Amino acid sequence: MRAVYLPGQRQVLFADIPVPEPGHGQVLVKMRASTICGSDLRAIYREHLGSGPEAYKDVVAGHEPCGDIVAVGPGCRRFSVGDRVVIYHISGCGLCADCRAGYMISCSSPLRAAYGWQRDGGHAEFLLAEESTCIALPDSLSYLDGACVACGFGTAYQALYRVDVSGRDAVLVTGLGPLGLAAGLLARAMGAKLVVGVDAQPARVDLARSLGAVDESFPAGTAAVDQVRQATGGHGCEVSIDCSGSPAGRATALAGARRWGRCALVGEGNRLEVDASPTLIHAQLTVHGSWVTSVGRMEELVELLVRWDLHPETTVTDRFPLADAAAAYETADGGLGGKVALVMD
Ligand SMILES: [Zn+2]
Ligand SMILES: [Zn+2]
Repeated sequence: MRAVYLPGQRQVLFADIPVPEPGHGQVLVKMRASTICGSDLRAIYREHLGSGPEAYKDVVAGHEPCGDIVAVGPGCRRFSVGDRVVIYHISGCGLCADCRAGYMISCSSPLRAAYGWQRDGGHAEFLLAEESTCIALPDSLSYLDGACVACGFGTAYQALYRVDVSGRDAVLVTGLGPLGLAAGLLARAMGAKLVVGVDAQPARVDLARSLGAVDESFPAGTAAVDQVRQATGGHGCEVSIDCSGSPAGRATALAGARRWGRCALVGEGNRLEVDASPTLIHAQLTVHGSWVTSVGRMEELVELLVRWDLHPETTVTDRFPLADAAAAYETADGGLGGKVALVMD
């Protein structure tokens, strides 16, 4: 089968490798959609920056897989051939406290392996997955919907869940890339009546508005916090979510939150430097660091997406066949559009 590797320095390599055979408790998934995440760009495609859970071990790339089960190994207990599945993108040891809570993302066992980082991922014709990482994809959701959930929408949902967003909250989203679009759409579905977005790229601001992910949006910069306050009667937003991962985006998320507000930091990388007294202490802020989600929370999300009639694939602006993975990565690296996807036939 054809498979994509990311050797670094913005290169995309193809190799022909054998189709894997599922072992005990494993399934073979025919890939249907495999989207590109900002973390793939930040920590693998441009340069191999990651260590520990973000170390890239020269495996098949792609950690947002979705497809059909075409073979099951011995000992599988829930899924069978023909099932459509989203893959929660980390397999953990299954026995530590984090794994038992479903947060395989936080498993610290040497057995932990993330698809597309330390074990083969979804940029290939087939993926070998642990049954324990599979989530049933409801019939009314597309494969692209599922791929978008496997990391991005799952991660945004977890952060909104952590800050307990509701109809009482105005929500500020800083960074309107794919993760910010997910945060805006989900915040609305969870009841928020006012979602305000900030991004440096006019094209991303336009996309967020046209998708209905934000009601109001402002360009990043020194005036952004004042504009956010003006949009909320001078108060700021009860909830803010940074999806930019940039120091400026984080600063806007913290300063744009209302006194006693809740802020979640989701966008990865870079540093955080704040004047602690005015920004955090006197503002009475609660700040959450939120990393991915649990397999159970992801399963809950696919059920809710059906109820909300919310289709994550609306955030996909660029689709490529597997053979054009190099162009797909180049487009994603340009950082101007929404989600970029590899779509298999
Ligand atoms: Zn990701
Ligand atoms: Zn574990």
